[in-house]
Amino acid sequence: MRLAHTRAFEVLRDPSPEDPWRVLFSGCLAGWRCGVDGTTNGVYPNIVALLALPTVQVIAFCPEQHTMGTPRTTPDLHGGDGFDVLDGEARVRDERGVDLTEAMIEGARAMVAHALAERAELAILMDMSGACGSQVISDGCRFDAERRYQRGVGVATAALLRAGVPVVSQRDHFTLGALRARLEPGYEPPNGALDHHETDWVRGYFADRS
Ligand code: SF4
Repeated sequence: MRLAHTRAFEVLRDPSPEDPWRVLFSGCLAGWRCGVDGTTNGVYPNIVALLALPTVQVIAFCPEQHTMGTPRTTPDLHGGDGFDVLDGEARVRDERGVDLTEAMIEGARAMVAHALAERAELAILMDMSGACGSQVISDGCRFDAERRYQRGVGVATAALLRAGVPVVSQRDHFTLGALRARLEPGYEPPNGALDHHETDWVRGYFADRS
């Protein structure tokens, strides 16, 4: 299993308004109403701040909407993570049991093609999604009586990582703060900010299952 932890903020070049960082965002994080229910899946202050910076070129894409439209049923991974799906060793199904594996792989490939065409240097994606998750995703259907989780990446994230695009999640508050500090003069990240995999919830949930 390979997670998407990244120190991208340390290795990205210095940007300018004339030559901004080219950042791929999950469409919903960029404000597209492309969630399964036609919403944006919430608002995240670090993301709002990054989207507004002149040194960030926003590249948005939704791999699920690309192949399945909106609204749609909810895809979750069964038997592995996004890498396993790409390798034919796990499947994607919705809450009705319909197999969405091929649509998810096609959407992931389209996202990679868009990212490479736009020369994206970094991706900031919505964690927990079966497509865009990068730290923690559901282990089976999220609507089961007891929702289960797995450490791992979604299908589109796996394809982006294999294409060489580093991925950060909207819950990686330490990394997002460090990225903002490189872009916003005077911005100081909050003390104690953690990336998602470092939080008490993630550590505790998986400690109980290791
Ligand atoms: S597939 Fe990705 S971009 Fe589309 S709604 Fe889900 S998290 Fe957002």
